[in-house]
Amino acid sequence: MSFSLPDEIQHYEKKIYDQRQLIEISRALNSTLDYNYLIQAILDICLAQVQTMQAALFLMPDMDSDFIGPVDGYRGFVFTKPEEEYRIQVQSPLVQLMETTNKSLKLAELDERISSHQPVPSLRELGVELMVPLKAKGKVIGLILLGEKAVGGDYPDNEKSFLFDLASLGGIAVENARLYERATVDMMTSLKNHAYFQSRFREEREKALKRRHPLSLLLTDVDKFKNFNDTHGHQAGDEVLKAVARVLIESARRTDFAARYGGEEFCLVMPGADEKTALAMGEQIRQTVEAMTVIHEGKEMKVTMSIGVSCFDPDLDARSNKTMIERSDKALYACKHGGRNQVRAYSKDMG
Ligand code: GH3
Ligand code: MG
Ligand code: MG
Repeated sequence: MSFSLPDEIQHYEKKIYDQRQLIEISRALNSTLDYNYLIQAILDICLAQVQTMQAALFLMPDMDSDFIGPVDGYRGFVFTKPEEEYRIQVQSPLVQLMETTNKSLKLAELDERISSHQPVPSLRELGVELMVPLKAKGKVIGLILLGEKAVGGDYPDNEKSFLFDLASLGGIAVENARLYERATVDMMTSLKNHAYFQSRFREEREKALKRRHPLSLLLTDVDKFKNFNDTHGHQAGDEVLKAVARVLIESARRTDFAARYGGEEFCLVMPGADEKTALAMGEQIRQTVEAMTVIHEGKEMKVTMSIGVSCFDPDLDARSNKTMIERSDKALYACKHGGRNQVRAYSKDMG
């Protein structure tokens, strides 16, 4: 290709601009480990950078799933069929092709042999024009799907290669968010794990100290759970723990977080909540658990739970997580001692 000088300068200026954009995008995508936020960010960038009204992300639901499917948050496309009909098997010719060609592909460019394979006809019906592979460690973990350009015509090469670079950055960011999720969540209960609890609780203490706002810690423990396991078996016990964990997760306010402190002891951290609010939350959780019936292998099972509450005190808790945990634990012990199935806040007479 031959350029006159101003054209050549313009061409390189555009290239520099695109590279700068990618650095900014990389910075934005790497600054979060929040999976849902990442998905929105990737779609927003697509819509902002190439003129189209339709963008969707297809991802593997888990790191070891065998298919790629649409995730919430897509823009402009209208999915008329059940979600399963749009799923693309990882072993499908389409994904294999995306893995080996290493570039953005137009749906119309697909090889004849692949073109008739499901879900290509469904994607065509949807109005997909361009597909961009999202890769991590050389494997396709998802696809960005884009509709036709608002101005008509084909996606130019520079846009296709920009989208490919964007998808490379996006793939790594999505993979990192998943790894982080895996490393910080307790698999059985879906609660945050102990390590996450300790580090996030420390952050919340620091914030409470700096902003002078309250912070409460609820520590929960299932009553007579050893007996329960002995009577119904460990597996039934696990089902109960999952159900109790769900109560905590669903009760948590937007700024709270629930974690598995250890075994059958869970906790709820409530930034901004004073003792009254924390006790009310504890009572709501206690009542929900008491009213709940868990069915395992056709048998109906019930448990109760005791909850100890402590509140941040800048004079006692500025330095370590331990002091508040100890006070919640003392309040919990008082509940057990007082007959179980109750909620108490720490008071000095508890020692
Ligand atoms: P208390 O009312 O005083 O709390 O009595 P408890 O029997 O519940 O006593 P404790 O809290 O010391 O017992 C904990 C029991 O929880 C013992 C352990 O087998 C059970 N447990 C801990 N983790 C799990 C788990 O992941 N699954 C199941 N099924 N049981 C668990
Ligand atoms: Mg216990
Ligand atoms: Mg117990």
